[in-house]
Amino acid sequence: MSKAIVHEFTRPQAHAITVAFGDGIGPEIMDATLYVLAEAKANIQIETIEVGQRYYENGVSTGIPPMAWESIHRTKVLLKAPITTPQGGGYKSLNVTMRKTLGLYANIRPCISYYPYVETKQPRMNLVIVRENEEDLYAGIEYRQTHDAFQSVKIITNSGAERIHRYAFEYARQNNRKKVTCMSKDNIMKLTDGCFHKAFDRIGAEYPEILKDHYIIDIGSAKIAAKPHLFDVIVTENLYGDIISDIAAEVSGSVGLAGSSNIGANYAMFEAIHGSAPDIAGKGIANPSGLIQGAIMMLIHLNEVETANKIQNAWLRTIEDGIHTGDIFGDMSREKVGTMDFARAVVERLGQEPDRFPTAKYKPRDNMTPIHAVMSPEIEKRSLVGVDLFVYWRDKPMDELGALLTKSCPDSMEIKMISCKGLKVWPNADVQMDFTDRFRARYKAKGATITHNDIATLMKNVADAGVDFLKTENLFMFDDEPGFVKSAGE
Ligand code: NAD
Repeated sequence: MSKAIVHEFTRPQAHAITVAFGDGIGPEIMDATLYVLAEAKANIQIETIEVGQRYYENGVSTGIPPMAWESIHRTKVLLKAPITTPQGGGYKSLNVTMRKTLGLYANIRPCISYYPYVETKQPRMNLVIVRENEEDLYAGIEYRQTHDAFQSVKIITNSGAERIHRYAFEYARQNNRKKVTCMSKDNIMKLTDGCFHKAFDRIGAEYPEILKDHYIIDIGSAKIAAKPHLFDVIVTENLYGDIISDIAAEVSGSVGLAGSSNIGANYAMFEAIHGSAPDIAGKGIANPSGLIQGAIMMLIHLNEVETANKIQNAWLRTIEDGIHTGDIFGDMSREKVGTMDFARAVVERLGQEPDRFPTAKYKPRDNMTPIHAVMSPEIEKRSLVGVDLFVYWRDKPMDELGALLTKSCPDSMEIKMISCKGLKVWPNADVQMDFTDRFRARYKAKGATITHNDIATLMKNVADAGVDFLKTENLFMFDDEPGFVKSAGE
């Protein structure tokens, strides 16, 4: 698509960035954003790519043609307007593809109230959510195992957890934020969420000047809705982050004003949090602020903090002066403007500071080292002490399954119990649960350890006994710490 407005970026030694104009209101808000960047003399050179709807419709299932990838691989920084994802099967979300392909492990979403200029129920909200983007239930490892039971595997790694926590603390340092709050559910998921929480404590110890606390995600989400001023930076896992990002954006009252970034060790993508708004596309009335905020995050990432401060302060002043697009027009508004007139108002205020909002003062960063997920050395002794065997069993007595699985047990092991949905149901269990058709038998070593061959023998014996097994899960000890949890009633 050819663009009506030419944006001049002429400085030598400029950072090359890739720009995607997107769909719907995308081209309008991108034009406005590039105009502000050019007038602020941002030290960037832009390469334009086309992605999204047109390519989806022409059979590129990801919406991203090879030429677009070439540019992104060259510049490593993408400023992206929203994309329309076609409804129906066969299309892949462009954002998910970008995140996975480019290793964008962190999603950063500031949620800020601009009270009294923008209406909100939470005038004192100013928090940033740092969401882990690669792991957790979103790794997409799912199975249908039986007629009744479906399974999704939650993966949390020490190295991935440490990486996102380090990013959150570095973000706090860079952006003058005083506290980092971790949210998890480690009271229930003691190993996975426990790993996430412990990694937070370890990494946090390296940042003594930053305050730290931890909330269980359920009460944490409630507090974000009711008392968001309690929070500064929040770091959390993928699923929780997805949910609380939307709660926080909604509560702030400024969905159209928020930017977001997706950061990896080598690549970064910046955008507005809203979509392509096809209902108002082509009318010149969309608010470009979300994408302008995304562009400010990009400038900070590029260490162009002087320009970031200049644009942020001019933007805050524009909001204070009551120059508002229709979506945020209210009691404190003075003039209703369209997309480009809003951008012009920002440009007119370049060099000015806000009166009431705090002045933006991002600091230059010395250390630009990319943050990788680094596995720690194998210090603990890892020993194989048993195996859980998952079986399909239905409409027959538990004692019959217990007898078959006991008979199948090799000499090196003993069967300890059978559980259903994490509750012990055999032997000697009086349970009121409605069973499903997926059960788990726990076998433990009679001596200190078992071998993989013992597990193979068990599987052969179980198959010979005619029991339909689904999978095994090995039980390890790490020094004296079990790498598995007990079932309820075990
Ligand atoms: P949306 O965010 O596009 O629109 C929701 C409502 O907010 C609409 O009434 C819209 O007019 C309004 N709105 C959004 N941005 C605005 C702005 N800048 N100024 C003024 N009003 C604004 O959400 P949707 O309608 O659910 O989705 C539309 C399309 O966008 C879908 O195809 C969806 O897949 C896509 N989408 C893309 C992204 C992305 O590229 N990151 C994110 C979300 C949705």
